[in-house]
Amino acid sequence: MVFPTTLIKAVKGTRDLLPPFTENWNAVEREARAVFRAYNYGEIRTPILEETQLFARGVGADTDIVNKEMYTFDDRDGSSLTLRPENTASVIRAYIEHRLDQRPGVQKLYYIGPMFRRERPQAGRYRQFYQIGAEAIGSESPAVDAEVIEMVIEILGRAGLTGFELLINSVGDHNCRPQYVEKLRTALEPVAASLCGDCQRRAVTNPLRVLDCKVEADQPIIDKLPNILDHLCDACRTHFDAVKRHLDDRGLEYTVRPRMVRGLDYYMRTTFEVVHGGLGAQNSVLGGGRYDGLAESLGSKVHSPGIGFSIGEDRLVMSVAARESSALDLCIAPLGEPALRHAALLARDLRRGGASVEIAEGKLKRILELANKLGARFTLIVGDNEINAGRYALKEMATGRQEEVTRDEIAPKLGAARN
Ligand SMILES: [Zn+2]
Ligand SMILES: [Zn+2]
Repeated sequence: MVFPTTLIKAVKGTRDLLPPFTENWNAVEREARAVFRAYNYGEIRTPILEETQLFARGVGADTDIVNKEMYTFDDRDGSSLTLRPENTASVIRAYIEHRLDQRPGVQKLYYIGPMFRRERPQAGRYRQFYQIGAEAIGSESPAVDAEVIEMVIEILGRAGLTGFELLINSVGDHNCRPQYVEKLRTALEPVAASLCGDCQRRAVTNPLRVLDCKVEADQPIIDKLPNILDHLCDACRTHFDAVKRHLDDRGLEYTVRPRMVRGLDYYMRTTFEVVHGGLGAQNSVLGGGRYDGLAESLGSKVHSPGIGFSIGEDRLVMSVAARESSALDLCIAPLGEPALRHAALLARDLRRGGASVEIAEGKLKRILELANKLGARFTLIVGDNEINAGRYALKEMATGRQEEVTRDEIAPKLGAARN
């Protein structure tokens, strides 16, 4: 096969994350991991590839994700595989497969990693995107809902996000939702023709999805449709009231948004979302909800109610102030071959002590220019004379001040300047 010599670029809708930008990603993930730890969540890593039917069954056959957006392909043995478009179905699969229901207490699992959806490319949307998410499996308690929501707000705050709004809703359960959906279907019949094409289809196949529609002209009609909160059964109403009470206890502010039904079929009772003003129309930073029947629909013999969320990490990183990238502590300028070998050992010992060190070869003038461009705080000049005398010239780049230091004095100097 002959390959043309054109440049190969990253696949459309994907991107490279480069330093120092990746520092922001790591900072957000560090904060998230610390919060997960505090709430007793453990990390789960599931495969990127799953059998296609996991998502067809777990996410819902009439969702945009499953209908239009999955990366699905036939493996060489003919089985149909899909790059995970979200991770809740995979986590529940793993929960069932490894009998995590037999472990003590509520299973609290978190994940950080890439998901894949073939969406129309637009600003801030990627076909490989990253989610930070968690699932609490094995409890129906509304207090767990509130704790999960509190935790996610904690993560956003520690990541540095400000000016966000928490939206909550209840979407009912298998008792009350079917009746509500029928009411919705009936109410849609006379008005469906005036709605957008997607809504006309949804009015028949999945009326709840109509409530999600973002088309401006549809909004006055949708606003007049029956409100799900007027149609909850007693158990769902009691649950929702308790969730709100627990959120009030914790001093968490929220807005009840009855039209928020979320894009995935498995949600029931509590759903929530956090929106952020800084991102225009596409402003949802995270979404989550309860999914008490999901494990059973994936074959679990045990009732395994759960609640979870996923944060859009791409958007979160974009929305928080950039971190100061960690500066280079020291640039070493070895003058000549013996000095280069000496410098390598100096650098190794300083690096073991936690300093970030770069060795630059070349003329001293060029090295000093490079050290400035790299943002090095100090440059250490190492020549034959310095090695013989055991004293080196340490130059502070910001001030230009230069002093003589012994080998043992270098690390303390770097450390003192850092603090
Ligand atoms: Zn519409
Ligand atoms: Zn209900």
